[in-house]
Amino acid sequence: MRAAIVRQFKAPLLIEDVPKPTPGPGEVVVEIEASGLCHTDIHACRGEWPLKAKLPLIPGHEGVGIVERAGPGVRNVKEGDRVCVPWLGHACGTCEYCVSGWETLCEAQRNTGFSVDGSYAEYAKADAAFVGAVPAGVDPREAAPITCAGVTTYKAVKVAGTRSSDLVAVFGIGGLGHLALQYAKIAGGTVVAVDLVDAKLDLARQLGADYVVNATREDPVEAIRKLGGADQAICVAVSPKAFAQAYGSLRRGGTLALVALPAENRLELPIFETVLHGIHVVGSIVGTRVDLAECLDLHARKRTRVVYETRRLEDVNACFSELEQGKVSARLVFTFT
Ligand code: NAD
Ligand code: ZN
Ligand code: ZN
Repeated sequence: MRAAIVRQFKAPLLIEDVPKPTPGPGEVVVEIEASGLCHTDIHACRGEWPLKAKLPLIPGHEGVGIVERAGPGVRNVKEGDRVCVPWLGHACGTCEYCVSGWETLCEAQRNTGFSVDGSYAEYAKADAAFVGAVPAGVDPREAAPITCAGVTTYKAVKVAGTRSSDLVAVFGIGGLGHLALQYAKIAGGTVVAVDLVDAKLDLARQLGADYVVNATREDPVEAIRKLGGADQAICVAVSPKAFAQAYGSLRRGGTLALVALPAENRLELPIFETVLHGIHVVGSIVGTRVDLAECLDLHARKRTRVVYETRRLEDVNACFSELEQGKVSARLVFTFT
């Protein structure tokens, strides 16, 4: 099968012909129809986090396709079903985190396109218990971004605790951000979208943002404070500066949700103001299988819009550059059929 492979961090990905996986007990092999490009894939392929991906690696954790083969003992899906293969590729199911609804914190988890091979390939192998069922009528190219960008920001809005009277600032209107703002609206919040690119702010308006701020022209901290300050600031921009501004934009009692994972792994916070203003700071990592099912269901009920452009896997290296240069409208999706 054709796959994009990283053999060395920071080197360009290679398109290679590699053996097609076969499913073991409890596993499925999925014929990939669509696979989204998450900014995490760039971090993973460069080895720029404290935790490194396996090498060689087939990246990709927004894979959607048809179950081509199911191994022995698979009962939750069958051959011919459309499923998605998310970042949370496996969790133990028995630890305190798993049994208390926090499987995303399981210490024995496996991550698709990071610690196990992912969906930048014609076929991907997955633990059947961790694939999501794509509802009938949902386009695989739309289901792909929901598989990570969607579930991650849906969960971040939950973790941040948005309620109907809240002002929510979303920093970074990319793959994650364009969905984050829609989930914040669904939760009833009033949304301020912040980015550096006008086209992204135009899109944010179309998707329901109440206010937009271009941080190259206007100080987002000042602009958001003028609106009363944010009850929640969700940072999905790959920039420590955006994190600092997101913190600065909060009103007293506000919550900063950390979601983006920039290579510069530091955020400096003033202790005094954080204490006196009762600020909450919380990290949010993807979402559980239930969160994913809820996102897919919301999309099936036409409550969200996924904005994507399709690309060929052969162009993966050019796609990485496109994303980094802020030229992508929201999400790039590799298509295979
Ligand atoms: P993306 O490149 O599509 O979006 C980033 C957006 O931020 C772009 O629109 C860019 O213009 C904007 N931006 C950059 N600098 C900015 C600044 N200073 N102020 C405002 N906006 C700015 O990336 P993505 O795929 O949406 O991923 C975003 C980040 O989230 C990545 O670091 C990724 O690794 C991380 N991520 C985290 C999780 C998690 O579970 N926590 C899950 C998926 C992705
Ligand atoms: Zn992702
Ligand atoms: Zn566990």
